[in-house]
Amino acid sequence: MLTATSENIIVKNPATGEVVQEVRRHSKEEVNKALENGHKEFSRWSRINAHERSRLLRNWSNIIQENKAEIAEIMTRENGKPLKESLGEVNYATSYIDWYAEEALRIYGRTIPANSESKRIIVSRHPIGLVAAVTPWNFPAAMMTRKAAPALAAGCTFVVKPAVETPLTTIKLVELAHEAGIPEDAIQYVNGSGSVIGKLFTDSQYVRKITFTGSTPVGKALIKDSADTVKHVTMELGGHAPLIIAEDADIDFAVSQTILSKFRNAGQTCVCANRILVHENVVDDFANKLTEAVNQLKVGNGLDESTDIGPIINEKGYEKIVEQVNDAINKGAELLTGNQYEVNKEQGYYFVYPTVLKNVDERMVIMQEETFGPIAPITSFKTLEEAVEIANSTLYGLAAYFFTNDYKVGTYLHENLDFGIIGWNDGAPSAAHVPFGGMKESGLGREGGIEGIEPYLETKYLSIGNL
Ligand code: NAP
Repeated sequence: MLTATSENIIVKNPATGEVVQEVRRHSKEEVNKALENGHKEFSRWSRINAHERSRLLRNWSNIIQENKAEIAEIMTRENGKPLKESLGEVNYATSYIDWYAEEALRIYGRTIPANSESKRIIVSRHPIGLVAAVTPWNFPAAMMTRKAAPALAAGCTFVVKPAVETPLTTIKLVELAHEAGIPEDAIQYVNGSGSVIGKLFTDSQYVRKITFTGSTPVGKALIKDSADTVKHVTMELGGHAPLIIAEDADIDFAVSQTILSKFRNAGQTCVCANRILVHENVVDDFANKLTEAVNQLKVGNGLDESTDIGPIINEKGYEKIVEQVNDAINKGAELLTGNQYEVNKEQGYYFVYPTVLKNVDERMVIMQEETFGPIAPITSFKTLEEAVEIANSTLYGLAAYFFTNDYKVGTYLHENLDFGIIGWNDGAPSAAHVPFGGMKESGLGREGGIEGIEPYLETKYLSIGNL
C-alpha cells in the first residue's frame, strides 16, 4: 500500500462544519506508483482461480457487515446523510459484493461449430486489466463497491479515487478488503483532486479501463482523455428523472413513493424524481397530499436518529438549489411549502427544507437541469403523449417513474420513455441484481446484474486448425 505525502485534505461534517479528519493527499508520483503496483499485481490476481476470488469477496462482504455501525457513522459524518440511510447504504454496498462473488463463478466462454472438420473454435473471457475508478460523494460506499466487486470478481485489479468530500468511507472499505485477504495491490485507493488524478488515470498505459460515477461534464472529459490510449469506459452520469402520475393512479401510494424517490439523501441522488408530471384532473389532490407528507419530514444532523433530511454537501450545491427555486418562483411557480434554509457560511453548513413547487413549466431552470436537492417541482399534463414529450425533452436518460394501475397506460409509458431505469409503481428500483445505467448523456454501459461484470471482461477467440 501507499504511504501518502503532500498537503492534507480536510474532511468536514456538512451538518456542523466541524473537521472530522485530515487525510493525506497523494502525490503524482504516488498515484503513478499505485497504478504500476496495480498493473504488476494483475498478473497474479487474474490467475487466482475464480472460486478463491469469490471466497475472498464473500469475506470482504462479511467483514464490512461486522463493521456496519462504524462505517455508517463515518459515512454520516462525512456526507451528512441520516444514519438510517447510511446503514441502508452499507447493506446496498455489500449486496453488490455478494452478487459479484457469485458472478465470479459464472464467467463462461463458448465453443462455436467450425466450418471445417480440421478446425475447432473456442471463445473465452478474460479480465481486462487494471481498472481506475472515480467515485462521487453522494453514495460513498455503494458507488465504490458497485465498481470494485465486479472488477475483482472478473480478475481485474482496482484503484479508486473517492471524492474529496468523502474519502473516509472508501479508506475504511479498502482496509477491510485487505483484512479480508484481498491482496493490497489488488485494491487500492488514492486521494486528491479529480482533475489531477483523473488525468493521471487517463494518461497511464497501465490503466485499461476507466469507470466513473459523477457529473456529465466530468464524464465527457474522461471519455475524451481516454481516447488517446483507447481505454474502455463505463460512465454513470447525471439524471433528470421524470415522475409521471396518471389520472387513474393510486394517489396515496404515489405520494409515498415520491417521498422515497425525491427526498432520499436530501434529494442528492442521480435517480431522484426531478420533474413531477401529474394529470390535470388529479394534480391538486396529489400536490396537497405530497405537501402534507413533506411537512412531516424532519431536517437535521444525520447522527440524530429522527432526522429524515440531512444537510446539502457544500455551498456550491446549496447555491444551485436556491437559484433554481428563486428562478421558478420569479417565473410564476406556486410555493406550497419550504423555500426555507438554515445556513452558516462561516461554519460551513447548509440545510435546505424540503420544498414543493406547483405550476412549474418548461421556462424554469428547474425543469431543464438536475437539481440535487430536496425540491419537488410539480407540473400538470392533459394527455399521455404530452407527458412523454415533456419527460423525454432532456439530454439525460437515467431514471423515470410512472404511477398507474392501467396496463395499457403503463405499457405505453414503458415503451415510449427514453430512460435506462424505469419504475412502474416503484419509487426505488435500484438493486445489485439489476442493470443500472442511463441512455443519452446519462452514461455508457451498465452496473449491476449480469450486465455489470461484462465491462471488465475481454473476449478472446481461438481457432485451432490442422486437426
Ligand atoms: P463530479 O463533480 O463529477 O465529481 C465526481 C467525482 O469526479 C469526484 O471524485 C471528483 O473529484 C471527480 N472529478 C471532478 N473533476 C474531475 C476531472 N476533471 N477529472 C476526473 N475526475 C474529476 O460530480 P458530483 O457533483 O460530485 O456528483 C454528483 C453528480 O454525480 C450528479 O450529476 C449525479 O447525477 C451523478 N451521479 C450519477 C450516478 C449514476 O449512477 N449515474 C450516481 C451518483 C451520482 P473531486 O474530489 O476533486 O471533487
